[in-house]
Amino acid sequence: MDRQKKLQILKDMVNINSTNGHEEQVANYLQQLLSEYGIESEKVQYDVDRASLVSEIGSSDGPVLAFSGHMDVVDAGDESKWKFPPFEATEHDGKIYGRGATDMKSGLAAMVIAMIELQKEKQKLNGKIRLLATVGEEVGELGAEQLTQKGYAGDLDGLIIGEPSGHQIVYAHKGSINYTVKSTGKNAHSSMPEYGVNAIDNLLLFYNEVEKFAKSVDATNEILGDFIHNVTVIDGGNQVNSIPEKAQLQGNIRSIPEMGNETVKQVLVKIINELNKQENVKLELLFDYDKQPVFSDKNSELVNIAKRVASDIIKEEIPLLGISGTTDAAEFTKAKKPFPVIIFGPGNETPHQVNENVSVENYLEMVDVYKRIAVEFL
Ligand SMILES: [Zn+2]
Repeated sequence: MDRQKKLQILKDMVNINSTNGHEEQVANYLQQLLSEYGIESEKVQYDVDRASLVSEIGSSDGPVLAFSGHMDVVDAGDESKWKFPPFEATEHDGKIYGRGATDMKSGLAAMVIAMIELQKEKQKLNGKIRLLATVGEEVGELGAEQLTQKGYAGDLDGLIIGEPSGHQIVYAHKGSINYTVKSTGKNAHSSMPEYGVNAIDNLLLFYNEVEKFAKSVDATNEILGDFIHNVTVIDGGNQVNSIPEKAQLQGNIRSIPEMGNETVKQVLVKIINELNKQENVKLELLFDYDKQPVFSDKNSELVNIAKRVASDIIKEEIPLLGISGTTDAAEFTKAKKPFPVIIFGPGNETPHQVNENVSVENYLEMVDVYKRIAVEFL
């Protein structure tokens, strides 16, 4: 495929506004594109106007390597601050600007083009490449969760997530848990607190306990660093002269394999149960988001191949590292059979920012990197 067509595909994808939804339009675009090259694909409906896309090339015996990217993007923010309109992809100074240019329509486009070129070149593959293009990554990895439940990750032998990593390969990231604690008390006039139950006071009992727990954790991971906990939202009460009947807080946890999600969740449940034994304390705990840490073997064949191929094509040493942010891999790795994962895709430090962009060279070189990784892995 020529350079112009490759750039046009990325621009077309950026121009589809898939802000937290409408991913089916991206899926339709990719389905049409793949079909022009004789590659079949299947939409997996998530909701109205939301569908993931699955497509395969190669032979049915041998290992399965998945290429995965999400089709949703985050809100463009204040559009007046953009140099170029966020949904009118613009090439300027060797970069393509637009929402999703880095995170991660360039990674997804490069993966799709790699499959198309391998198919066109009749490259022999002793196994399959499976494209997993997902919905709702930015708001909870919804598509990856659905695809995993439906079995699309059940037979994988390797997974590449094309999230922006630039000239680095990520093989580990932290998990993430969001939780809410609701405290229920009883209203009373603030001059007669003995008739009420102060929901804020009771909520703070939890706050103090959870902070004590978080500070006592000394688990750390050689690559990912420390376990992190923060209470990030708190609200309660409604009038300055009333004893508050309701209060709630939300917390976020960044978990590591040494202090995994199940352990942390059990500790929180225990704190709540203990506090609820006290008179007048009524606390309720909800887990809103639960993504496990991903920690892949850094000596796996997939990592070794990716590092060698990328260093060769990009002509520089490609380091391996861990990151804090979560990806669709947190869902795909819930599949029963374990498999190595790398996060490796074109892009820079502009995701979720105004003037998001990707370097054209970085985007194009990743097409070749993905092709060679697949050929060597399979
Ligand atoms: Zn992303």
